[in-house]
Amino acid sequence: MSKPLLRIDALESGYGASPALRGVSLTVESGSAVAVLGANGAGKTSLLKAISGALPCWHGTVRLAGRDIHGLAPHRVARHGVAHVPEGRELFPLLSVEDNLLSGAYARADRPGLKRDLDGIYQRFPILSDLRRRAALHLSGGEQQMVAIGRALIARPRLLMLDEPSLGLSPALVADIFALLKELNRRQGLTLLVVEQHTQMALDLAHKAYLMDAGRMVSEGDAKRFAETREVRDRYLGSGRQAIQGSTRWRRKRGWI
Ligand code: ATP
Repeated sequence: MSKPLLRIDALESGYGASPALRGVSLTVESGSAVAVLGANGAGKTSLLKAISGALPCWHGTVRLAGRDIHGLAPHRVARHGVAHVPEGRELFPLLSVEDNLLSGAYARADRPGLKRDLDGIYQRFPILSDLRRRAALHLSGGEQQMVAIGRALIARPRLLMLDEPSLGLSPALVADIFALLKELNRRQGLTLLVVEQHTQMALDLAHKAYLMDAGRMVSEGDAKRFAETREVRDRYLGSGRQAIQGSTRWRRKRGWI
């Protein structure tokens, strides 16, 4: 854990003329797990979209392993080794599980390696092997999340970005998904950038955390110490977090209402 795999400086981006990121800087060391926290509308999703090329970069730089990737189209950013598991999964609903998984491998030419990795994904998620011919439309939220993560892994990314992987999942499944992410990071050395409102899970996974508010990074630090800071404790853990969880938008996004 020493060289920055991802380095963002003074990034500004948004929708039309409306800014969502206002001078955001962030560093993700190679082999580390980094969490980005913040309330609804803070700019977390926009940050991942700007990194993956789905949002334009108006100002600032985005570097992957020292190479400037800002302004590249999403498929080119993906070829540089960035995989993005978007909020809400965004699977192809009418395609089978297997075709959804293989859609993550469009840039790969090595057929034998691809077959091995597909088998590896089925070993990791045995239920997907049983469901390989089923349309994504008919999967549960947890199964869809497994497909979305499998689709990202089959691209053999250097950086895996996940936007609210806990969204709409039961507490048991959330724990399973975070255990998987921890294993991918700690055992396989996969670098992770995770946006998550499930603050406790995210801080338990991450080495480093950032806090966003109104399109800006307002705080950063060691994840374990971060959890002990008053602002994070008051606003995002314990009773403060329950206030966020109690909001209608938060509960609707999780499919609770
Ligand atoms: P959440 O946890 O609710 O997903 P977030 O921290 O991911 O919130 P973003 O979704 O990145 O926040 O939103 C940042 C800002 O950009 C907000 O002001 C939001 O209203 C705005 N925004 C997000 N998506 C769009 C869009 N498609 N068009 C216009 N504005 C948008």
